[in-house]
Amino acid sequence: MEIKGIAAASGYGLGYAFLLQEPKVEVIRTALSQGGIEDEVARFEESVSRAIFELEAVRKTAGQKLGEDAAAIFSAHIMILEDPEYIGAISQKVRQDMINAEAAVEEVTKEYVVIFEGMDNEYLRERAADLIDRGKVAGFVTNIGGRTSHSAIMARSMGIPAVVGLKDIVDKVKAGDFIIVDGTDGKVMVNPPESVIQAYRRKQEAAMTKKREFEKLLHEKSITRDSVQVELVANIGNPEDAKGAIANGAEGVGLYRTEFLYMGRNELPSEEEQFKAYKEVAELFGQNHPVVIRTLDIGGDKELPYLEMPNEMNPFLGYRAIRLCLDQPEIFKTQLRAILRASVYGNVKMMYPMIATLQELRAANAILSEVKQELATENINFNSYMEVGIMVEIPAVAALASKFAKEVDFFSIGTNDLVQYTLAVDRMNEKISYLYQPLNPSVLSLIQNVITAAHNEHKWVGMCGEMAGDLTAIPILLGMGLDEFSMSASSVLAARALIRHLSQADAACIAQMVHNMDDAEKIKEYVEQAVPFISELR
Ligand code: PEP
Ligand code: MG
Repeated sequence: MEIKGIAAASGYGLGYAFLLQEPKVEVIRTALSQGGIEDEVARFEESVSRAIFELEAVRKTAGQKLGEDAAAIFSAHIMILEDPEYIGAISQKVRQDMINAEAAVEEVTKEYVVIFEGMDNEYLRERAADLIDRGKVAGFVTNIGGRTSHSAIMARSMGIPAVVGLKDIVDKVKAGDFIIVDGTDGKVMVNPPESVIQAYRRKQEAAMTKKREFEKLLHEKSITRDSVQVELVANIGNPEDAKGAIANGAEGVGLYRTEFLYMGRNELPSEEEQFKAYKEVAELFGQNHPVVIRTLDIGGDKELPYLEMPNEMNPFLGYRAIRLCLDQPEIFKTQLRAILRASVYGNVKMMYPMIATLQELRAANAILSEVKQELATENINFNSYMEVGIMVEIPAVAALASKFAKEVDFFSIGTNDLVQYTLAVDRMNEKISYLYQPLNPSVLSLIQNVITAAHNEHKWVGMCGEMAGDLTAIPILLGMGLDEFSMSASSVLAARALIRHLSQADAACIAQMVHNMDDAEKIKEYVEQAVPFISELR
């Protein structure tokens, strides 16, 4: 069975399916008569033995095809079925409540889940985190989402092949099915024949060869044939990603998404905790490589359960990012203090997300000045010249860029949201993903406006939306004069190969041609024809 979805992170992953969210199974609860109890317990015990037997077989095949690490997940399943306490509790429930085994399994399991969820146990939390450990995950597929939903972005930054927006894949796949995730073409094969598996193994090998070719560019400059140098930097979510960014040749960080520090926990991170995370990244990159830290961008598809965010009809248009920070200045100030303190440990810059008006920018800067004064009074070191910029992700700012350019040190264009707001297309909604068009002429003309406005004020302008790493978009953006391209670490080397292949003069001609075109699809075709090298990089 082959299922089409949205290509979210390129590469090929082969392995056994693990369902993070099982399809809902409706369990019917039936009462037993006194005489039926022992038969029911025997039926339950017999099915446990059968399940263990089947899992042993799956474990063996997984071990042979994918190695012992991959097979370990099935050993864990078997251990659960052999746990006398858990299995004993189910038999006891059947006897005590005189109910069928299915209902007893469900009830006892729910009790265990509550106990585990309540445990403040570092080990268990680490095991939960293992679920996205790069070494253990061959691929990643989801029912919902688009190319710029945050799960897709994370998969890309970790280099995990991913297909999203598959609508009902969790109903079509059972745990333990063999699947192929083709994140390059955006499709998933379930239990494919051996010939397809072999063909994909060959594709995997070819991709590895290409990767080794790219690695020759690790320490080369991101410079065009006519000697125009740009900055190729990475988007990261934590210090771990920063190491991956360096390993992939990034020249710095163009977007540090700090919200991940606030997620997956029960309370706000302290100033000290944030300071350590920012300092670690600043030091990893050193004085010569910029690290742009973005202040908290929570809301939209990123929630904090402990913050009591309002239930909104349109969260992407609602109480998020800088709006929340200006409304709750204590949260904002703690983060600003941490960023300022980290600013002396490297080449740190800072930017505000989701700015819509000049008044918001000025209000945020006023709080920043207050915090600087507090730190100075406390004799705490910070870089008082730290550059402060804004993300341009709301069309209102792109339209008014000439005014904003006078009051910022730099712009970083956030196309993930800019496309969503320009075309009024929810970036998470797979049903309307055809409308999610970064190359739409309306988006391109806003981008050109932002770049021109910044350069008129002698300010630099970067892009940290996913478009910056899109090989088809790069010649246009280079031609428009973009100074900095920030992308998932896994895209950096291919982007560098392309930049080194192009000349700025030719790219400017491409941008000029595109300027006269009126259709995203035609623009894509035109660029790919004008630069055939793009297809060699995919
Ligand atoms: C963007 O909107 O382009 C962006 C980089 O921010 P995020 O994806 O975190 O919304
Ligand atoms: Mg955004």
